Amino acid sequence: MEKRVYIETYGCQMNEHDTERMLRLLEGAHYLETKNAQEADFILVNTCSVREKPEHKVYSALGRYKWLKEKKGAIIGVAGCVAQQEGDRLLDRIPYLDMVIGTHAIPMLPQLLQKIEASGERFCETTFDPEGIYLKTILPQEPLHRVKSYVTIMQGCDHFCSFCIVPYVRGREKSRPSGEILEEVKCLAEMGVKEVCLLGQNVNGYGRGSEGELSFAELLERINEIGGIERIRFTTSHPKDLSEKLIQTFSNLKKLCEHIHLPFQSGSDRILKAMHRGYTKEAYLEKIDCLRNICPSIAVTSDVIVGFPGEEEKDFGETLELLRKVRFDDLFSFKYSARKGTRAARFKDKVEEDMKQDRLSVLQEIQKEITLHKNQELEGRVEEVLIEGRSKQSDQEVTGRTRSNKIVNFEGDLSLAGKLVPVRITKASPHSLRGEMLGSEFASSPQYLACRSS
Ligand code: SAM
Ligand code: SF4
Repeated sequence: MEKRVYIETYGCQMNEHDTERMLRLLEGAHYLETKNAQEADFILVNTCSVREKPEHKVYSALGRYKWLKEKKGAIIGVAGCVAQQEGDRLLDRIPYLDMVIGTHAIPMLPQLLQKIEASGERFCETTFDPEGIYLKTILPQEPLHRVKSYVTIMQGCDHFCSFCIVPYVRGREKSRPSGEILEEVKCLAEMGVKEVCLLGQNVNGYGRGSEGELSFAELLERINEIGGIERIRFTTSHPKDLSEKLIQTFSNLKKLCEHIHLPFQSGSDRILKAMHRGYTKEAYLEKIDCLRNICPSIAVTSDVIVGFPGEEEKDFGETLELLRKVRFDDLFSFKYSARKGTRAARFKDKVEEDMKQDRLSVLQEIQKEITLHKNQELEGRVEEVLIEGRSKQSDQEVTGRTRSNKIVNFEGDLSLAGKLVPVRITKASPHSLRGEMLGSEFASSPQYLACRSS
């Protein structure tokens, strides 16, 4: 008999994708997804512990589902980074929790679920798997009806930035065999997926430590040859490992979209050193110059942390200076959050919470203006847009993204989902663009063909 699973997901794209992989596995065990927790026989909270705030959300989410355990006997589980970090402690702390499943244990999910169903026992599985079997392809069994999809190409991280919990909860850096990745992308293409986004904590390091494996640039070249796939993206890149060969791919590979997410974290060399990032502000700026020389239309987004231990006004000023120099298309900005077990958690000179908040507000105000200006530069231009579905704002509108990853809403028919269309940008706002779709005759005009490869 078919049962229902509800998964609540916190955190990054990696977690979103893990949720998808778990849903595919559970489908094979006759658990189908529901978007309504009250209907579910199994409720799983997929967690993030990169900062304190998402970590705390886990406990309140579990609190919300306690009554479903009591009333309906639903099985309750925790997956992801908090599960990996806390392990058995979660079972001790939350008496109605049935399952704790760590980041490397995803393939074991159906068996664990069956064991709980059969015995009523509670389980915690957080063993790390150095062979990387947990990364094995879980191909979709049903057509996805989706325009774009994530593909994990590697897991874990060996960088040990002093603020970051990832290496402790995701394990050592491990690349998936390229053969498996290519097989997955081909399968997605056959199911109608047009855009793939390759995922890893540091995709530039792809293949490191796996003898005879393709480099990341070579992997991109191979994916570029797969029929049906129209667009390729990747995230995240580490500035330290961004090679010239990889930068060159932005001009060589037609399907590779002109966007890079390149976190800088701080504009102060003193703070970058304490963060153990492995580059200086100058080296970061050189990479940006190189990217823009090779691909002038590239959009650059980034991550920054304010209030790292020891950050003084002068350091923060240098971060603002870098912001104004680079003029990022968009920026994810965070207040430093001490993570137990990381080196920075033991650093003295903590920055007061009020000070962190003030700095964050100043930085976000500056970036808001830059983002709006960047978007306004597109007004009047024709952009290639991949239509993804109906827009949230109106039933008469569709939504999609430019190659530079900006959201565009415009009048159009939902039957066009999955099509690449020319759209003239008519109005920019800080978070999205409005546009008008141009006729099919425009799609073959030299002007449009030039914009597609500019
Ligand atoms: N691997 C990516 C890299 O090196 O750029 C980043 C992965 S991390 C999950 C995403 C972002 O969260 C980081 O770039 C950083 O800005 C932020 N972050 C990580 N740890 C943090 C912490 N302890 N406090 C605040 N922000 C943090
Ligand atoms: Fe965390 Fe640094 Fe690894 Fe990114 S590179 S996941 S910030 S340790």
